[in-house]
Amino acid sequence: MSYRAQITVAASAGFCPGVKGAIDKVLELAKENKGPVYTLGPLIHNKQVIQTLEEKGIRAVNDASEIKEKGATLVIRAHGIPPEAEAAVRALALNVVDATCPLVKKVHRNIAEWAEKGYSTVIVGDADHAEVIGLMGYTAGRGHVVSGPEEAGRLPRLERANVVAQTTQEGDVFVKTVEALRGRAGELIVSNTICAPTRERQRETLELSARSDLVIVVGGRNSANTARLFQICAKLAPRAVHIEREDELEPDLFDGVSSVFITAGASTPVWMIEKVLARARALTEVRRSALAGRLEFLWLLTVTSCVFTAAAAVALAYASMRLQGLPTSADMLALAGLFVFSLHLTNRAAEKGTAVPDRAKQLLFVRFGRATRAIALLAGVAAIVLAARTTGTVAFLLTAFFWGMGMLYPYKMPLGLDTFAKFPGSKDIMTALGWAFVCAALPALSYGSLAYKSSQLAIVFAFTLVFARSVMFGISHVHSDMIVGNENFYKAAGPRRTYAAVLSVFIFMEAVLIALKNLAWKEPLVNAMIAGMFYYLGLIIFFYFRRMPEKTLAETLIDSQFLILAGLVWIS
Ligand code: SF4
Repeated sequence: MSYRAQITVAASAGFCPGVKGAIDKVLELAKENKGPVYTLGPLIHNKQVIQTLEEKGIRAVNDASEIKEKGATLVIRAHGIPPEAEAAVRALALNVVDATCPLVKKVHRNIAEWAEKGYSTVIVGDADHAEVIGLMGYTAGRGHVVSGPEEAGRLPRLERANVVAQTTQEGDVFVKTVEALRGRAGELIVSNTICAPTRERQRETLELSARSDLVIVVGGRNSANTARLFQICAKLAPRAVHIEREDELEPDLFDGVSSVFITAGASTPVWMIEKVLARARALTEVRRSALAGRLEFLWLLTVTSCVFTAAAAVALAYASMRLQGLPTSADMLALAGLFVFSLHLTNRAAEKGTAVPDRAKQLLFVRFGRATRAIALLAGVAAIVLAARTTGTVAFLLTAFFWGMGMLYPYKMPLGLDTFAKFPGSKDIMTALGWAFVCAALPALSYGSLAYKSSQLAIVFAFTLVFARSVMFGISHVHSDMIVGNENFYKAAGPRRTYAAVLSVFIFMEAVLIALKNLAWKEPLVNAMIAGMFYYLGLIIFFYFRRMPEKTLAETLIDSQFLILAGLVWIS
């Protein structure tokens, strides 16, 4: 397919870390099911997300006194609140959870520190914004809010002042306001508290708006930071629009346009940006046959239904058997595919997110949800029957055990049996264990080669690769605004440690393979595996330095590593 215009989506678009953290927190609380969950004011300024949260039973109140249930949970949103308001809600019979963004808290501390030393505070921001109301609470009654240099010029003379910015303030406005204040204060402390994610968003916006014919700013009309972003774009680009939903895009907007830049406010979810991107593509599309549309849907269905993941498991089982020097058994390959297909499809059916399901998800998990779950179950039963027929008793029992554990993993179990599921990274470890068992250990058990070094090596190899695969999936899920908890390594360890971990996997695997090569052990096979690992390295680099692709493409790219590996092993 080809398009009339080149469309670029801002790498910084999507929920900022503060908003993402607050949303994750309320969704986790709702999932725990310990009573009603309320937020003090709307969690974010985005109608569609608020609607989704309401569907999950999370409601906003303007005042804590509106909550009648004792023991209900009240969440303080990312903007934060004044300290006296916090003390008041904590005095109520409520379970108060503070989801104030750590970067807003940093501004609280800055203001309180200087206020304690007797400095007045000047906040450059919107006086009515919840974050600014919260900041004012830390100024010890000596706070002033100005929207820009003009209002700063009207302030009374201040002896000693600390000037801070609302975290989403425009950099230029802050600098000009500081200049206006210089003559009005005896001593002026300048604390540029515009947060790092906002700076990055503004930097990218400035750069790309100036180079584009049309800028589309996506976000709530009542979102201050989206409105500010739009103001910046409107000054730089020949044409700019601020929309909330994709259906607000009209075809004539794209007339004569050859470059489009899509950006979004801090409270706009990735799935909404993806919908806008899809609509912009549809409106700028020159030629796209019905066949191309059908093929695209088929690909979406293949990936979403976990058929592609099952193919990846078959490929890994093949590479593992070759590495172990075992004959390639069709039964073992089928077992690996069925086992992985069954568990992944079951887990996918239980996944949650703030996103509206795409066409494939709608079809598989909403319209034909029961049939999909039944197919997943049948595939698992088929895998176990196959294990009973083709392997020994121990192997069969282990297959049934691992499958049972995997099926129960997404669900809450009595007697705290699901405690392991809450461990940091547990999901990635469980996934890697399951794959390593069915793709490498099970063939070894069946052929009685478990005691051989080659089999042990294949198990370690499969475990490590699948662990890295699962961690990368976690990154993709977080970028797609899906709900993931600490059971996900990326969520528990943070971006830096996660990328360090997946890179360490590459170094470890290559070191082992090179050592084997130097020992002249199965040289052509090892050479093929060394080469295959470079695809994995390329993937890490691509995800790290470029915007994470949308989740279906990310999944295709990640699972393709096993197909590439198997292909290289096959021709070796
Ligand atoms: S805009 Fe910045 S300070 Fe505000 S919630 Fe987001 S990350 Fe935190």
